[in-house]
Parts: sequence; structure tokens; C-alpha cells
Amino acid sequence: MDYIDTLVVGAGCIGLAIAARLSEKHEVLLVETEKQFAMHTSSRNSEVIHAGIYYPTDSLKATLCVLGKALLYEYCRRRKIPYAQLGKVLVAVNASETSSLNALVAQATLNGVEDLAFLSRQQLSHYAPDIKTHQGVLSPSTGIIDSHQFMLSLLAQLEQHQGSLVCQTQVTHIDVTNDGFIVTLNSQSETMQLRCRQLINAAGHGAQPLAHSIMGLNAATIPEQFFCRGVYFRYHGQHPFKHLIYPMPEAHGLGVHATLDLNGQLKFGPDTEFIDSLDYHLDETRQYAFVEAIRRYWPNLDASKLLPDYTGVRPKLSQSGFQDFVIQSRKDHAVPGLVNLYGIESPGLTASLAIAEYVERALED
Ligand SMILES: Cc1cc2nc3c(=O)[nH]c(=O)nc-3n(C[C@H](O)[C@H](O)[C@H](O)COP(=O)(O)OP(=O)(O)OC[C@H]3O[C@@H](n4cnc5c(N)ncnc54)[C@H](O)[C@@H]3O)c2cc1C
Repeated sequence: MDYIDTLVVGAGCIGLAIAARLSEKHEVLLVETEKQFAMHTSSRNSEVIHAGIYYPTDSLKATLCVLGKALLYEYCRRRKIPYAQLGKVLVAVNASETSSLNALVAQATLNGVEDLAFLSRQQLSHYAPDIKTHQGVLSPSTGIIDSHQFMLSLLAQLEQHQGSLVCQTQVTHIDVTNDGFIVTLNSQSETMQLRCRQLINAAGHGAQPLAHSIMGLNAATIPEQFFCRGVYFRYHGQHPFKHLIYPMPEAHGLGVHATLDLNGQLKFGPDTEFIDSLDYHLDETRQYAFVEAIRRYWPNLDASKLLPDYTGVRPKLSQSGFQDFVIQSRKDHAVPGLVNLYGIESPGLTASLAIAEYVERALED
């Protein structure tokens, strides 16, 4: 039976970042069910480099987002990944939303994001032209990234260190042994087995099913999974924006916000809808709710220019309240050499390089 030191399951941005990092010291194989990397959440997001504003103090989301943001900007500069630190404007549209805005600024400060700035009327007309605001705050460290180029670079880094990515290969079963794992893989209807010492479960929506297939892992440690779909609509037309515009957050997401891609194209979303299983269907009738949500802060929206774009599905661990990333290692589940990552929703892309560092340390615990 073939042996590899470290097996990483799932080639989204999280698995790629972990595999690239671990390959500096270990022999690494990254396996992916789909035909190529990033066919799921990692190619169905907003591509925003988040500042780290929204999350409770000392949560993994807060600490790994703030650290990850710094690592990601540095990585983009060093490896020439296209990105733009555009900044975003947080908008309170009326007096009753100002307390939410003030609370966000206070939380950001607690998280170490100390550069938020209240904007004057004059500054607001510059940073958020045509936007209805009662009060606005600029987050200068928010940006956008070409996430595909970022992931290609992580793959190149993995391969430079003699690691490899194998696609069309699904991990179907894992036995825990005295000195590691025996992993059963299915590759284009062929079944094979592999031994490894360390195993990282970065399978995104597949993380819980994969964990349940690990014989020897206490099933009580595996959190329940939920799917929360978000739709995007693209704006096909001229617009006045050069910065991202975010209304006050809502229960399960950041509100229908306006983001730009690196070509300056404007899109809106994602909204939130809990669904029963992984399903990327785009319900075009959601456009009515989008128009209403956008007009709260951009009354001059030309609704005829808003066209359906794509959807993404958040890997949620709860249907209510804040839920942190869950990254479990030996101290949590008693299996040496195993790390399971659950609920890596936003800001997972921003945090990916910091998550990789965290996983490396967790393996040493
Ligand atoms: C709508 C939306 C918007 C977002 N916007 C942002 C944003 O602007 N900024 C930000 O920082 N974050 C954002 N995020 C979060 C970010 O996209 C995710 O945190 C990140 O992409 C998760 O990556 P992943 O590698 O964990 O998962 P995935 O990209 O889903 O990768 C997991 C991979 O595992 C594979 N797999 C599953 N099971 C198996 C198996 N048994 N064997 C082999 N392979 C398997 C899957 O095929 C998949 O390719 C957003 C998320 C969503 C849903």
C-alpha cells in the first residue's frame, strides 16, 4: 500500500493554503473529488479581503481574519497576485441604524481593526456618491482579490515543494490505526487505499460526511451542518462607485452589499436562504427583494440593468446567532494527526493563510 506523510482532503482555498504551507516541511498529497480545484465555495464568493470588523472579540473568525488579511496582502504583493485595496463604506441609512454602525466600529477596534474612520458629508459624497446615508464609516483595509490567481499560486507553491494535487479522487472511508490512517479513495470508479500519518479534512460542505466516515472518530465531536444559499445579481451598466458599499449586516450575512471586481464591474449580494442540501440553483424571482434592499441605500438603481449572476452556499453550523469556525485537533477529538475543519464560511478566503498556520500548529499540539 502506498504511503504519504500528509494527506489533505479538499482543494478549495483552505485545503490549498494548508497543503502549500505543510509542503514546506512534509510530503503532501492534496485530493479533490471534482475535475479541478475550487469548484465549490472557493469560486462562488465575493472575493473580498475582509478587514475583520464583524466578529466577536477573540473568536477564530476575528483573529484569523485580521491576521489572514495582513498575510494575504503581503502574499499578493510578493507573488504578484492581482488585488486592489479599494476600501469599503459602511452605511447607516437612517438615524435608527447609527447605533448598529457605532457598535461595529467599537467591535472592530476590539478586534484590532483601528483604521475605521467616520466620514463627513463631503467625504461621503466622494466615497459613496449617489448613496443615501445618514452616517458612513470608511474601512480602508478592505479590498478585493483575484481568488483564482491566488489559488493557482498556492498550487504552484505546493508543487514547488514536490507536493501534488490529484483531482477526480474522492476519499470515501478512513480507518484510524496505531500510527496514522488507512484511507480509501475512489478515483473514476477505481478503489484504492493509501496509508498516511497526518490527515487534514478541509472538505468544505463535505467535511461532516467525511468525518462520519472516519472509523475511530467520536461522532459526537462532529457538528451538524446547514446550507445557506446566497444569490448575486450583476449590474450591467455605468455606475458611480469606486469603493465597496455595505449596509448594516442582517441575521446570517452582511446584507445585500455592493462589491466591485478588478475590472470595476458592480455586483450585489449575497442574500441568505437556508436550503436542505447543496444546490446552486438561482431563483430569479429574488430580484424583487434585491431591488428593494438596494434602493434602501441606492435609490437611483436602474432595476432593468440588474441581471442574475451566480450563487454560493455557506457551510453553516447553526441557523441562528453567531457561529465561529470550528477547527478540531487531537485535544478536541483524541485522534493524533487528524485536523477537521467545519463551518469555514466567510471570512474563510481572507483567513486562509492564517488558517493554514493555525492547522500547522494544531498538528504539533
Ligand atoms: C456566498 C459566499 C460569499 C463569500 N464571500 C467571501 C468573501 O468575500 N471573502 C472571504 O474571505 N470569504 C468569503 N466567503 C467564504 C469563503 O468563500 C470560504 O470560506 C472558502 O471558500 C471555503 O473554502 P474551503 O476550501 O473550505 O471549501 P470549498 O471551496 O468548498 O472546498 C472544499 C473542497 O472539498 C472537496 N471535497 C469534499 N468532499 C471531498 C472528499 N470526500 N474527497 C475529496 N474532496 C472532497 C470539494 O469538492 C471542494 O472542492 C464566502 C462564502 C460564500 C458562500
